[in-house]
Amino acid sequence: MLQESVRVLAGVGEKRAKDLADLGIETVGDLMAYYPFRYDDIQERRLAEIQDQEKVTIKGLVVSPPVVSRFGYKKTRLQFRMMQDRDVFSVSFFNQPYLKDKIVVSEDIAVYGKWDAKRKTLTGMKVLGSNSEGDFAPIYHVNKAVRQTTLIDLITKAFAQFGDEIEENLPISLVDKYRLLSRKEAMYAMHFPRNPDHHHQAKRRIVFEEFFLFQMKIQGLKKAEKAESNGIAVLYDIDRLKEFTQGLPFELTGAQKRVTNEICRDLRSPKHMQRLLQGDVGSGKTVVAAIALYATVTAGFQGALMVPTEILAQQHMESLNQLFHPDEVRVALLTGSTKTKERREILADLVNGDIDIIVGTHALIQEGVDFANLGLVITDEQHRFGVNQRRVLREKGFQPDVLFMTATPIPRTLAITAYGEMDVSIIDEMPAGRIPVETRWIRPPQLPQVLEWTYQELNAGHQMYVICPLIEESETLDVQNAVAIYEELQAYFAPKFTVSLLHGKMKNSEKDAIMETFKTNDSQILVSTTVIEVGVNVPNATMMLIIDADRFGLAQLHQLRGRVGRGAEASYCVLVANPKNETGKERMKIMTETTNGFVVSEKDLELRGPGEVFGFRQSGLPEFAAADLVTDAHILEVARKEAQALWKMENWEILPEYTALATYLEKEGENQFFD
Ligand code: ADP
Ligand code: MG
Repeated sequence: MLQESVRVLAGVGEKRAKDLADLGIETVGDLMAYYPFRYDDIQERRLAEIQDQEKVTIKGLVVSPPVVSRFGYKKTRLQFRMMQDRDVFSVSFFNQPYLKDKIVVSEDIAVYGKWDAKRKTLTGMKVLGSNSEGDFAPIYHVNKAVRQTTLIDLITKAFAQFGDEIEENLPISLVDKYRLLSRKEAMYAMHFPRNPDHHHQAKRRIVFEEFFLFQMKIQGLKKAEKAESNGIAVLYDIDRLKEFTQGLPFELTGAQKRVTNEICRDLRSPKHMQRLLQGDVGSGKTVVAAIALYATVTAGFQGALMVPTEILAQQHMESLNQLFHPDEVRVALLTGSTKTKERREILADLVNGDIDIIVGTHALIQEGVDFANLGLVITDEQHRFGVNQRRVLREKGFQPDVLFMTATPIPRTLAITAYGEMDVSIIDEMPAGRIPVETRWIRPPQLPQVLEWTYQELNAGHQMYVICPLIEESETLDVQNAVAIYEELQAYFAPKFTVSLLHGKMKNSEKDAIMETFKTNDSQILVSTTVIEVGVNVPNATMMLIIDADRFGLAQLHQLRGRVGRGAEASYCVLVANPKNETGKERMKIMTETTNGFVVSEKDLELRGPGEVFGFRQSGLPEFAAADLVTDAHILEVARKEAQALWKMENWEILPEYTALATYLEKEGENQFFD
């Protein structure tokens, strides 16, 4: 049985089992799926071609029994002779007497070591892949207690003894369609491929399997959730909705129209909407949200718009009030700084249905807040609204449709993985007439020149953001830094221009007041820690200076940069950075080369890997044994489509072709991906 402990294998006792467990290997199946992270190329090298002192792998026949001799204090030398073609040469291993058992006369072996051409001697470092059929010896992640050779040995045994129990878990139709190796052959070839192509085929099969099974699971969950949660059908008034969109000050972009249709279709349907709306900064998500909220109100339901900061809540409130007629749609704002008396009134109006749309921070749907009939919740600029909040709402008796808006351009491959249980809508088009932000990267010594140039721009009536370095360990240091930069800039620009400062330690009322002076152009330069990261809209600000830009993630830099370029004038973003390594330089260069958020985050992903970009533990991304979300993205896409097609079939589980798959998923179901 593959589920049996590794102790069923000869030579595995309590101690070894414990050592293997440290590597995460407990069962025979675990052992078989403990894939190497690379292979040593042990293709035959002709002795004559090998340079003196070159490190190589030489294959050959053992022609003399190994002899261990001792010398000095506790030192040993293991010696034997090997033959390649007609050439006989000598091999020595120092201080690895236990290798003796592996050296068997008239067997083929491969030895990795350093070649001494004059003395025709190989000083061996390790014995490789004596069990491998091909020219590639697997190399595993091991620890001190378990050696490579031991692992190879055990894996070989596991396959010999239990290999026949490896069952196909993919539908045969898919195996045929994509010409995949059988599960058994692929698992074996992941360790011991015959040649590079064999390895490639094995990997392709295993990666497809991982992705397909994962997709089957999350899509299954999604279907189950949709079925059990009787969502509400938001039957909006299509004529009023049309009138509303026609009354907007601009024509919607094609992408905005498309996603609006997708959202409206979900609203009308009694199914429970869980949709992620992605759109680059400035792509116009707010108006899409407004249309969805308006639709909800015409159907007699209430809507809630949740945002991460008070400043943003305030701003959304203002935009909605500009779009809606106050007699028709009553919008209220509820945040931590709402006065007690006002708060009480708002809560009462929410329960009795006198408020149609409530805008606010996270607390909005939690503390003592109740609704008459909540139909839609939209969250903006954050993707942590998860299972918990949904549970809170459900417990209150609401099953609103949920729309998550994010400007963090999560690459599609990650979106469908991390948010696999959601539908995804993407706004991939900017409103016409936008001039892309021009981004430049400078080193600190060039800063004086840049400041001179900004002086002229300010003279022409523009405004500027200055973003201070991010000091993750300490908010206090953040503030100190910001204050220092603020004082320097004040010395430079005063009295002609007013500089103001915004940082995370300020009270909300202070922050609001500062933002207000910047919005009204009473201050021209806003020095800030990253608190402005999300959503602020000041079209007259055409410059942004980011200090120590290499401390920020690319996605974050892109977000920040999105604060400029919101008006009709050309805008600039200057990254001040002195990156230490090539990756750092590459990252700065990417920022100067593209203004497309999706490209930025794809690149970031390539350079840093998904874990670092999104914070692996928080990201909810699954870990795969063989698959790589970046390099195997195309396989993920195919696997996703196939899983979708299968779940569309009624009762696929009972069809004979899928029995193995259904059983497999059922067994796996006990180790849930999501809690
Ligand atoms: P984001 O997606 O970053 O939230 P916003 O919704 O704040 O973007 O939109 C950015 C700006 O673009 C706003 O001033 C908004 O009024 C404007 N806008 C949105 N859609 C369009 C459009 N179709 N045509 C012209 N301007 C638009
Ligand atoms: Mg926005």
